[in-house]
Amino acid sequence: LNAAGFTDYYDIDDLLTEEHKLIRQSIRDFVKKEISPNIEKWAQQAHFPSEIVRKFGDVGAFGPTIPTEYGGGGLDYISYGLIMQEIERGDSGMRSTASVQGSLVMFPIYQYGSEEQRRKYLPKLASGEWLGCFGLTEPDHGSNPGGMVTTIKDMGDYYLLNGAKLWISNSPESQVAVVWAKDDNGRIRGVIVEKGMEGFTAPEIHNKWSLRASITGELVFDNVKVPKENLLPNVEGLKGPLGCLDSARYGIAWGAIGVAIDCYESALKYSLEREQFGKPIASFQLQQKKLAEMITEITKAQLMVWRLGMLKNAGKATSAQISMAKRNSVDMALHVAREARQIHGGMGITGEYPIMRHMMNLESVITYEGTHDIHLLITGADITGIQAFK
Ligand code: FAD
Repeated sequence: LNAAGFTDYYDIDDLLTEEHKLIRQSIRDFVKKEISPNIEKWAQQAHFPSEIVRKFGDVGAFGPTIPTEYGGGGLDYISYGLIMQEIERGDSGMRSTASVQGSLVMFPIYQYGSEEQRRKYLPKLASGEWLGCFGLTEPDHGSNPGGMVTTIKDMGDYYLLNGAKLWISNSPESQVAVVWAKDDNGRIRGVIVEKGMEGFTAPEIHNKWSLRASITGELVFDNVKVPKENLLPNVEGLKGPLGCLDSARYGIAWGAIGVAIDCYESALKYSLEREQFGKPIASFQLQQKKLAEMITEITKAQLMVWRLGMLKNAGKATSAQISMAKRNSVDMALHVAREARQIHGGMGITGEYPIMRHMMNLESVITYEGTHDIHLLITGADITGIQAFK
């Protein structure tokens, strides 16, 4: 731990500004007060704490990089990353709520929306008065979203929306859904669908073993009349949803490091306290190997996302670079969680420690926002010029 109490083996804090550190501390304090004391209970009971939405709004967790005139934080990408890291250190499901709202709902409305849409939706989403969701994945189209079959048909005065989306974070509790569908010419367009529109339902998906404190559902559209002014005017094609995913994946690359740090700190503490054969288990070489490898991998990932953040601040980060960091951080965190689970012995499977919850959460994080395999193939395509996944 550094002087400020953060796991920081290479003094990466030296690369942060005072503002970055203050933001990180304020989110750390928020998570300690509002999330950590309750998260085991929420996860065990598969309860989504809807009151957290307003609280996230108050603390500035929604749309930190969106300009302040629309209610956002007007912050840089390092700040955004640190916010995601601290929230996910609390729980990946809670970070999912914030990621979806900021990167997948506010970002497309800000980036692709009309001025009226920005003014109508962004302040309410930033404050947490409204919750939003992002509908891209369909029952038969996950890794291949371009194959989607949800359609908007131009009816002159309005669009008629038909189809279904699956695995949608926040959906049952959302007032607003950014939905991707094909128009009459087969082009992918974004539309803003509001709760209460006739023919629109968002049933919950039950029995998840992962992200249990995050609510997940479907989006079902049965001849939903969507007003013309709800079409996102400034983007068409797959680059629309993929642009949003770049932003969310960047946040996950930071967030997963928060999980890894939480598991590592818990394992280090436990190994120093737990005695077997008359001495702390931390004194055995096999346990030291696990801990040493954990901190090495965490440090490598911290440096990677910091550099990625600087590239993003300069507008130079590529989608492939973001894919590499998302894949690396999540895989690293899952490995750290599994090793930490073993260090905790039998205690590691209980809710007394955060490890098993983190580990199960990461099984979703390694699949959503592009699977582990797909991100590897994106790197492969980037370095060889040959796409292997089509
Ligand atoms: P598939 O695409 O069917 O993949 C199955 C397996 O095949 C994977 O291992 C994959 O890597 C592999 N595979 C697929 N194609 C290839 C290929 N070409 N080459 C090699 N291997 C391949 N979606 C949203 O739109 N909005 C959300 O808010 C959202 N939230 C989610 C929340 C949770 C808890 C979960 C679990 C998912 C969420 N998703 C969301 C969906 C998520 O993005 C998809 O699950 C993901 O894209 C994978 O799609 P799939 O599940 O259909 O798997």
